[in-house]
Amino acid sequence: LSDKLKKADLAEPRAYIAGEWRDKVASGKTFDVVNPATGDVIATLPDCGKEEVEEAVAAAYEAQKAWAKKTGKERAVILRKLYDLMVENADDLAVILTAEMGKPLAEARGEVLYGAAYIEWFGEEAKRAYGDIIPGHQADKRIMVIRQPVGVVGAITPWNFPNAMLARKMAPALAAGCSIVSKPAQQTPLSALSMALLAERAGLPKGLLSVVTSTSSSTVGKVFSEDDRVRKITFTGSTEVGRILMRQGADQIKKMGLELGGNAPFIVFDDADLDAAVEGAIASKFRNAGQTCVCANRLYVQAGVYDAFAEKLSKRVAGLKVGSGMEDGVEIGPMIEKAAVDKVEDHIADATAKGASVKLGGKSHERGGLFFEPTVLTGVTPDMKCAREETFGPVAPLFKFENEDDVVAMANDTEFGLASYFFSRDAAKIFRVAEALEYGIVGVNTGLISTEVAPFGGVKQSGLGREGSKYGLDDYTELKYICLGGI
Ligand code: ADP
Repeated sequence: LSDKLKKADLAEPRAYIAGEWRDKVASGKTFDVVNPATGDVIATLPDCGKEEVEEAVAAAYEAQKAWAKKTGKERAVILRKLYDLMVENADDLAVILTAEMGKPLAEARGEVLYGAAYIEWFGEEAKRAYGDIIPGHQADKRIMVIRQPVGVVGAITPWNFPNAMLARKMAPALAAGCSIVSKPAQQTPLSALSMALLAERAGLPKGLLSVVTSTSSSTVGKVFSEDDRVRKITFTGSTEVGRILMRQGADQIKKMGLELGGNAPFIVFDDADLDAAVEGAIASKFRNAGQTCVCANRLYVQAGVYDAFAEKLSKRVAGLKVGSGMEDGVEIGPMIEKAAVDKVEDHIADATAKGASVKLGGKSHERGGLFFEPTVLTGVTPDMKCAREETFGPVAPLFKFENEDDVVAMANDTEFGLASYFFSRDAAKIFRVAEALEYGIVGVNTGLISTEVAPFGGVKQSGLGREGSKYGLDDYTELKYICLGGI
């Protein structure tokens, strides 16, 4: 651990396998975690392989049997303690998160509380895993439906929300009575490990949660796919890797929860409150330096307000403070790695070569390293890469449109269907457009849509399943129909 992290109580540079903290693993290998703001190595972790994943799965399989037998309330008590510990330790968790991922400290703290809210929510829902009584189809029959936990869950999470993406999976899994073996992104394993530490302190029985730190994600994915004790794979990440996991899981008809890529449209109609739309765009586009799967990727602005919106947005974006997430007042941290900067540069170069203009930013920030200038592009058209692919960076490309039908068609012209946003003050249009957008999530007159009380998830190639809300437990339970005869 680096000196700074040594001061963070919850920074733990060991893997957590089957209820034990490990600094040595079978491969004998380690890997480094790097602070993207400075390039410094902040921790060195054991590089787990097949052996450790199998060990974690075996322990999860055993531990789950007793966990499933507990009452919802008994599971809720532990989840509530974990929630309290996360809130009490939010500052510490935020420092660890910013150190490994780069986002501004205030955003990191927000993420920790957002993740904690899922733990709280699903702890409460654990008590409400209701079944059903169905009127029998014959006079001597009675029909009952009960909910039972799916079993062992394999979870693979990304680097952009290292705390909340795991919280969103472990909360419903543990609440439902499942156990979970998690594999955090290799760039950001410390946040997951700190949550395991708190779960242990909260009294979670050993083996129910493992955190396998590994650079060999495909090995972990294969064990999850091929070990029939793992009943479900839950994954947040790219559509490309989602496809691999789904293919691999096909042999065992593995249950899949997939939160994949997005290509979110953000539509500003002529009748919108432009100031609100600008604020919505800042929240949706520039949060986490544009590195979220619900970030606005394509901003469609109606012709009548195009120039005014471009002007207002650029003024606001020009004021965003870029820097290390640990510095006061910073709103845009570094990109996660060089490849992310390359993709942003490639999208800007492609757009400008095809006729777009850089209204603001457009290049690496003067701080160097992985810092990039928040950027606004105008004159963007559907033939450009940024129209089809997720840029995943602080770039706002502005497309001009004339009418509602055209913009809905353009917005839906993508294989993705996660989040979408639009701004309008016309009630009829609000219903029409919200219903016409082929997305799992629609934000109307807001750029912020994530909350534990609502179902988060995508349609089309953005995924399967929903996280959060009263529906979220469904993904971690099976329905069992019991038919009582001879009554
Ligand atoms: P991104 O890095 O763009 O968020 P990825 O889909 O590459 O998206 O990564 C998300 C998670 O999936 C990470 O934990 C990564 O290590 C893991 N991962 C990458 N490739 C595979 C694979 N073939 N099998 C299983 N997990 C994978």
